[in-house]
Amino acid sequence: MSTVPHLRPSPITPTVDFERDGVQHGFLRLPYSRDDSAWGSVMIPICVIRNGNGPSALLTGGNHGDEYEGPLALYDLARTLDPRHVSGTVIIVPAMNYPAFRAGTRTSPIDKGNLNRSFPGRPDGTVTEKIADYFQRELLPRTDIALDFHSGGKTLDFVPFCAAHIRPDKVLEAKGFAAVEAFSAPWSMKMLEIDAVGMFDTAAEEMGKLFITTELGGGGTSRAETVRIARRGVLNVLRHAGIVAGAVEMQPTRWLDMPSGDCFSFAEDDGMIETMIDLGEPVEEGQVLARIHSIGRTGAAPQEIRARMSGLLAARHFPGLVKAGDCTAVVAVLVD
Ligand SMILES: [Zn+2]
Repeated sequence: MSTVPHLRPSPITPTVDFERDGVQHGFLRLPYSRDDSAWGSVMIPICVIRNGNGPSALLTGGNHGDEYEGPLALYDLARTLDPRHVSGTVIIVPAMNYPAFRAGTRTSPIDKGNLNRSFPGRPDGTVTEKIADYFQRELLPRTDIALDFHSGGKTLDFVPFCAAHIRPDKVLEAKGFAAVEAFSAPWSMKMLEIDAVGMFDTAAEEMGKLFITTELGGGGTSRAETVRIARRGVLNVLRHAGIVAGAVEMQPTRWLDMPSGDCFSFAEDDGMIETMIDLGEPVEEGQVLARIHSIGRTGAAPQEIRARMSGLLAARHFPGLVKAGDCTAVVAVLVD
């Protein structure tokens, strides 16, 4: 595939052939020499399901290692999708940052790399940078539509939504929102990123790719409802893209918008967080969303986290304890 001349080739070797018809279960083998395995490798699971020429989808989970709806839906899809129902190619990587996924952590235990802040990556960088580089230079270029599953991980919890970004190219933006609509999560989001540099999303969009993502729950676990949403959503997106036969199973969705940085609230003190409203409930500007109680002394008044805009509570800090700088709440605006 494409290689930038001044960069060396990726050290990752796929054990699958992206041009071969049928189902292949294999690995992206990334050499990783270490104390317990001198010539060892990181083996990132990959499945390729191809049936002739046609559009190509890249389906990914485990970009962050403590988010489970995507991996649950994608290991399942890899096991069950019949290539006779496919036209084109489906590439499934259910646990992109496999070392992080194995450890149940957001970032890699090897190099502390946050894969979703490591793009475009480096072929001669850390393990996490090598994974990003492989997606950047080998997988994204062969993709027409990318769906990257996220949830809140151990520290955030979200109302379940599928999302696409506001983009300068309005044709691609409309295609993204149509794919989000097809995913049919209970909520659909016009998403604003707090920190877009280095994201897989940004890499795909700068390459002109159709890219959608999700936030389907969180807390470092999954729920029956959010896994059902993920399973239905991924099949719907493949149907919408014309890769899997059959009609999209549309479900009602309500659109949300994140119009500015005022969506986000951050803690200014350490302490114990008391959530004052629940996910999905309406919020008025100025309303107290959460209180942070000092735990180091008695008698101190709690710090109040107030909404800086009206809307509904789309995400919240999950653990009971909070640190200064943690994102405590995200308010989104209903647009229908
Ligand atoms: Zn994530």
